[in-house]
Amino acid sequence: MQLPTRTQQLTDIVEGWREDIIEFAGSLISTPSETPPGDERKVAAVIDAKLHELGLHNVTCVGAVPERPNVLCTLTGSGDGPTLLYCGHTDTKPVGTARGLWKTDPFTPTLLDGKLYGLGAADMKAAVAAFVYAAAALNQLGRTRGNLLLVLVADEEGGGRYGAHFLASEYGIKADMALIGEPPGIDREWEYLHIGCRGVCCFTIGVHGTQMHSSLSDRLPSVNASLKAAELMLRMSREFKVHFIPHPLYPKGVTVNLGVKLEGGVFFGVYPGYAEFSTDIRTVPGMRREDLVRDLEQFLAECSARDPSLKTELRFRPSPADWIAPTEVSPDLPIVKALSDASDHVLGFRPPLSIYPAGTDSPKFQLGAGIPTVPSFGAGLISVAHAANEWVGAESIIQACKIYALAAHQLIGARDNGQV
Ligand SMILES: [Zn+2]
Repeated sequence: MQLPTRTQQLTDIVEGWREDIIEFAGSLISTPSETPPGDERKVAAVIDAKLHELGLHNVTCVGAVPERPNVLCTLTGSGDGPTLLYCGHTDTKPVGTARGLWKTDPFTPTLLDGKLYGLGAADMKAAVAAFVYAAAALNQLGRTRGNLLLVLVADEEGGGRYGAHFLASEYGIKADMALIGEPPGIDREWEYLHIGCRGVCCFTIGVHGTQMHSSLSDRLPSVNASLKAAELMLRMSREFKVHFIPHPLYPKGVTVNLGVKLEGGVFFGVYPGYAEFSTDIRTVPGMRREDLVRDLEQFLAECSARDPSLKTELRFRPSPADWIAPTEVSPDLPIVKALSDASDHVLGFRPPLSIYPAGTDSPKFQLGAGIPTVPSFGAGLISVAHAANEWVGAESIIQACKIYALAAHQLIGARDNGQV
């Protein structure tokens, strides 16, 4: 089959920029943007300069506070097509206590055996670089029908308050469809095309006991809050069931992470009167907060009925961190088809559809701004993110750039000669 001319042109343009794209991903890695503390000014300046260098001059930086800028770049079409939003976050998690485990310097991009190492390589500076060059490639072909809106956000790793949440709730961002370039692989690159992502519910269970002089705990009535909390947590690990309708694209279902934080007692000599453990539950699309709350309340009520000395309280994290909703889009959306078609062309196969195990900015765009959002498709593996020796395949960055350019062309590009 003869390839449409513009598809070949876009592929050739990206191919010609191969080294520049990888170098740009490297320059993003060498510009620290850890959240916390949260300051994307330098990395935003690097992106802003690159956009202008590539001939993309319709660039603005917006944010709720100066140190958390979001870079927006628009390719304005002829008005004869939809608006496609491509989103990447510019911040990373901190190096943290894993620094000694890095084999290379986390802020010195290092190419070894075809892998680009550095903090944020996969999550997600590679995707940011790929989006920027994909937009530039599309721009080289002349005016598009629809608009391409590049949105390179701050604060994703901090919960998105200054990034996607700000854009959706205060800035009033608008688009017809969106893709976030979060790294989709778990065991290998290009493993899945994620059309939804799991949500998370965060809460703490407090257990009350008897605070008293510990020398008398066996002579006076006493309840050890630390021990009760430990027993409750163990019982939960064995018996607590979340009720939900299984999602065909995420057969593993819900994940309950008990004791992500654990605290109790006061000091030696004081019998513990209070202890608590925190938990996050990863939810699948279709689940509702009120159903999960009912499951938790019923479980705690049953435990207290069996053990009248167990006094518990269920506290959710302050909103909106208590419930970050799962999201999904229809597999029939044009953006899903365009990404799949582009993958088939570039990779030679269509990654199977799935649900992303982790949270992304997609609820902010989809539920906050009404933009159907594909939450994760691009280069790299989520399994190497937030850890030492993060890497992304250098070839995958080029492939991502081609896929983003071709999918954008299919959705908003000028029609090829002879096409209607
Ligand atoms: Zn990420």
